[in-house]
Amino acid sequence: MTTNNTQFVSKLPDIGVSIFSEMTLLANQYNALNLSQGFPEFDTPEYIKGRINHYIKEGMNQYAPSPGLPKLQNAIASLIKNNYQVDINPTQQVTVTSGATEALFVAIQTIVKPGDEVIVFDPAYDSYQPAVTLAGGKTVHIQLNYPRYRVDWQQVQQKITSRTRAIIINTPHNPTGTVLSSDDLAQLSKLVESHNLYLISDEVYEHITFETPHISALQIASLRERAFVIASFGKTYHCTGWKLGYCIAPPALSSEFRKIHQYVTFSSFTPAQAAIADMIEQHPEHVNTLSEFYQQKRDYLIGALNNSRFKILPCQGTYFLLLDYTAISNINDREFCNWLTKEHGVAAIPMSVFNQSNQCDNVIRLCFAKNSDTLKLAAEKLCQL
Ligand code: PMP
Ligand code: GLN
Repeated sequence: MTTNNTQFVSKLPDIGVSIFSEMTLLANQYNALNLSQGFPEFDTPEYIKGRINHYIKEGMNQYAPSPGLPKLQNAIASLIKNNYQVDINPTQQVTVTSGATEALFVAIQTIVKPGDEVIVFDPAYDSYQPAVTLAGGKTVHIQLNYPRYRVDWQQVQQKITSRTRAIIINTPHNPTGTVLSSDDLAQLSKLVESHNLYLISDEVYEHITFETPHISALQIASLRERAFVIASFGKTYHCTGWKLGYCIAPPALSSEFRKIHQYVTFSSFTPAQAAIADMIEQHPEHVNTLSEFYQQKRDYLIGALNNSRFKILPCQGTYFLLLDYTAISNINDREFCNWLTKEHGVAAIPMSVFNQSNQCDNVIRLCFAKNSDTLKLAAEKLCQL
């Protein structure tokens, strides 16, 4: 059989290569400091590396059970109990996935039917919309506005229709660094309850918050009953390349989720699951020190940029800092990031790509999960502009 490319109808006609791949490629091409794609420059802890080596040598190299290794499911349930004082059933409610990306994709396929609407907040993480589109649904975008990027819940209420199936939230929020407050979650819970909606809560930066604490959807009973709460070990244990995450949902929703998960990937990398389970159990202090670790980096970068012409926006969580470059240039943020990478050796992410409307606030995102030397060098270059 031959395929005729000219007749091929794309299921994702508007999607190109992700901005993260694009900017990392450009950074490498121009030998620029890569503060664009979000990944730590430092390594995963030695303890985890030792454990994964141990399990590989021991022969733990075959499929894990599809929902996850029981020892990791148990460790996740105890992590949840310690952090959020909530009891979840590890066997029925925790599904280990190949990164948060898989969990988001599967959660969306689980609940979205053709014609359904899903509310997302722009700037929105790039994987939500394609997953909704592939499920036959439609994303309804609500723009968060410069410089505070807070949710107006009345506006959300107005966007809810009889076709609305779910709301996707991301707290702490990539790229704006905002964190939803208890008041935000109370308003959200009223809406999802009264309109009988599902919630997908992307909490991959749950352990990286600064002055404002993170509140999980798991901590609010009315949300917990209708939520898929999604997390990533990549962020928490500096191992984004291991692609390991999980989804917590009520038993009935988890069982639907697992029907799809088993045909997307069946199971995730077995030795990494065992190694992470040991890390959670043996080094519970790691998650408690993460915020302080990143706060030092955030504050260092803010201090080093003090004399620059960038306006620094507040950052309550995540490892991303937003900079407004209005005083430096009036070109759009994509052009600005290209120029910055090629001419000044610092790669960043333009924020408008996360807005369906392409609204450009003249804001770029820097990832500060980097060593001090890199942050220092990057700040020196940025201060010259
Ligand atoms: N959600 C958000 C908001 C993210 O920033 C990321 C990745 N950085 C993901 C999901 C995906 O996480 P993972 O790498 O575990 O697939
Ligand atoms: N989530 C990371 C970021 O925001 C990148 C993940 C990816 O490259 N897909 O930069």
